[in-house]
Amino acid sequence: MTEAATLFSEARRVIPGGVNSPVRSFSGVGGTPVFIDRAQGAYIYDSEGKAYIDYVGSWGPMVLGHAHPNVIAAVKAAAEKGLSFGAPIEIETRMAEKVIELVPSIELVRMVSSGTEATMSAIRLARGYTSRDRIVKFEGCYHGHSDSLLVKAGSGALTFGVPSSPGVPAAVAENTITLTYNDSESVAELFAQIGERIACVIVEPVAGNMNCIPPAPGFLETLRKVCDDYGSVLIFDEVMTGFRVGLHGAQGVYGIKPDLTTLGKVIGGGMPVGAFGGSREIMECLAPAGPVYQAGTLSGNPVAMAAGLATLGQIAKPGFYEDLGAKTEKLANGLQALADRAGIAFTTNRVGGMFGLFFTAKDKVTSFADVMQCDQDRFKRFFHGMLAEGVYLAPSAFEAGFVSAAHGERELNATFEKAAHCFKAL
Ligand code: PMP
Repeated sequence: MTEAATLFSEARRVIPGGVNSPVRSFSGVGGTPVFIDRAQGAYIYDSEGKAYIDYVGSWGPMVLGHAHPNVIAAVKAAAEKGLSFGAPIEIETRMAEKVIELVPSIELVRMVSSGTEATMSAIRLARGYTSRDRIVKFEGCYHGHSDSLLVKAGSGALTFGVPSSPGVPAAVAENTITLTYNDSESVAELFAQIGERIACVIVEPVAGNMNCIPPAPGFLETLRKVCDDYGSVLIFDEVMTGFRVGLHGAQGVYGIKPDLTTLGKVIGGGMPVGAFGGSREIMECLAPAGPVYQAGTLSGNPVAMAAGLATLGQIAKPGFYEDLGAKTEKLANGLQALADRAGIAFTTNRVGGMFGLFFTAKDKVTSFADVMQCDQDRFKRFFHGMLAEGVYLAPSAFEAGFVSAAHGERELNATFEKAAHCFKAL
């Protein structure tokens, strides 16, 4: 038995499935998950000391690379002063100021401890603000695991949702309508029918949970327009895209202003942090300023705020996203050239520091249906080949990949060398 296999069997004795979040279990690719001991820069090191070039980055937060010295120093300094007070601290205000400065659609922001909490709270706020119950989401987008959002489409495009997990009450799911991502027509059709009953539309402005799918031209514009026309709240779930695709999030890249934005991942620099914010008018409905209840014992935690603020300080430096985008482009183009040379049907997507790899004969992957048609078996073999060579890709064909500022020429060239072997072996 390898050390990872031993650790995994020990874990399975005491943790459901051996993991604290399902995708970590390698259930999407088969085999035993790598157990991580430590990480530095672009690399993670497993329990046996083997190094991997990391393109997961804790599923997005580690945009600076792992254990950035400024972030670690900020965390240490904060921890020395105590771990949690449950009373206001100055750094919460400094963090809010920074978020408001970087994301212009946000006038007021509330901190929480995960992306799930951010989206769950934003949905409640949108419902409270509009006094409406129905919400709209898109198939293939993930917004955390709260009841209203663990819902898939019912039969037929415009029917009400059904739970996508046991434990989600049908009565809750009925209020969630699931449409097709990048399909503007179905959005316009739905709003024409029942727009005045819809509290909000929640969307990943670049989808990153069905692999990586950028918005089709006009899609986000349509969402903005129908929400304006019918008095619904437009929520951009930027838990993944925030401070990942650009300094001002996907809303900066595409020039669309949502009413509410949810954030997570990068904003905590690797600590458990989420946030939601938006116009003063809507945000002031929140307790204690207004009647919509939302709270958290560890919200605005001093150590988490220190890690997040130190991270935001680094990404705001001039040229950060130009550099990150150029590296991601180089990675995607390099892998494409190697796949072409090996005669493997393959394409890529990318926005800023996130990317998607697709084993498909299609030129471009633009929809959930396109993703579902990709060759999963090839992906699994490529994943395991790269893992053996020391490259850690997301262990699922339905997740985006991430490049960090710590990935340099050396890591990209090493990735290409290893990928050349793996494409040939397919
Ligand atoms: N929204 C999006 C877009 C996400 O990608 C995720 C997590 N992958 C979440 C919400 C939920 O965040 P968390 O896992 O921190 O609860």
